[in-house]
Amino acid sequence: AKRQGRNNFQIYQISPERAQQHDVLLKSRLRHAEGNGELRVFYQPQVDAASEDIVGMEALVRWEHPELGQISPGVFIPLAEESGLIVSIGAWVMRTACRQAREWEDKYGLGLRLGVNLSAVQLMEPDLLDTVAGVLRETGLNPRQLELEVTESISIKAVPNLVENLHGLHRLGCRIAIDDFGTGAASLDYLRKLPADRIKIDQSFVRNIGIDPDDEAIVRATIEMAHRLKRAVIAEGVEIEQHLAFLRANHCDELQGYLFCRPLPHASFDRLLAERQRL
Ligand code: C2E
Ligand code: CA
Ligand code: CA
Ligand code: CA
Repeated sequence: AKRQGRNNFQIYQISPERAQQHDVLLKSRLRHAEGNGELRVFYQPQVDAASEDIVGMEALVRWEHPELGQISPGVFIPLAEESGLIVSIGAWVMRTACRQAREWEDKYGLGLRLGVNLSAVQLMEPDLLDTVAGVLRETGLNPRQLELEVTESISIKAVPNLVENLHGLHRLGCRIAIDDFGTGAASLDYLRKLPADRIKIDQSFVRNIGIDPDDEAIVRATIEMAHRLKRAVIAEGVEIEQHLAFLRANHCDELQGYLFCRPLPHASFDRLLAERQRL
């Protein structure tokens, strides 16, 4: 048994119990992340497809733990959702990003839109509208500049006041975007029932431009359908010229992706704005 110690250890490392222990550890550290100043907001530009002018930015949270290092939001956001911490983390991200957007507005006056992700857990909170209204009041950001991104993986049925909350956000003057469009089981239902201003074509479709004709057809049809319904369309995960050419040819309104810029810390984003509004 001793001889196999190393192998056993490797198996033990990836066992579900061990993975769960890791989650428990991360969750307990996450509880202090905001208070300890370990969270940052990065900003990724969103550009007009025709002119490539920057028209907005998406706020993306980052967690740098002093010992554990960078932890991806793909890992810690689900843990924050399970533990309910997403409510305070989400409010922190929104306040930080709105304050920053207001600062950029005062400095550059570009009227840039700010996209902030909302999790299903936040959308179930009875205080959501008060929180958003409070952040807008506190930061003085024009509500028209704030766009809440709601992922399509949220079930309309599982979040009873989803539709009401989104209407409430509209009444505050905010915009709504449907994130990850096309990946859920109920894309069309979403489009029909939710008061959305914009849809974000998921990167899994964009990635297959030039590779999979079916996915190309879906992208083309999604843009056309959205336009007929008077919704704007942004594609995410635009990485190469071929994606850009296809999306432009098919009249996608806006683009976001590494081809233009990675998510940047606020100081780098500020430099980008200072240098040029054009990328
Ligand atoms: P998302 O909302 O779909 O955000 C887009 C993700 O794609 C971001 O990953 C972004 O960095 C990445 N991305 C942007 N351009 C490209 C590209 O050209 N190629 C590829 N491969 N990826 C690209 P990130 O920052 O790791 O965030 C992952 C997810 O974590 C987000 O997906 C969102 O669901 C969640 N998330 C991030 N920040 C927040 C937040 O403040 N609140 C909530 N609730 N969720 C957040
Ligand atoms: Ca998003
Ligand atoms: Ca997305
Ligand atoms: Ca996503």
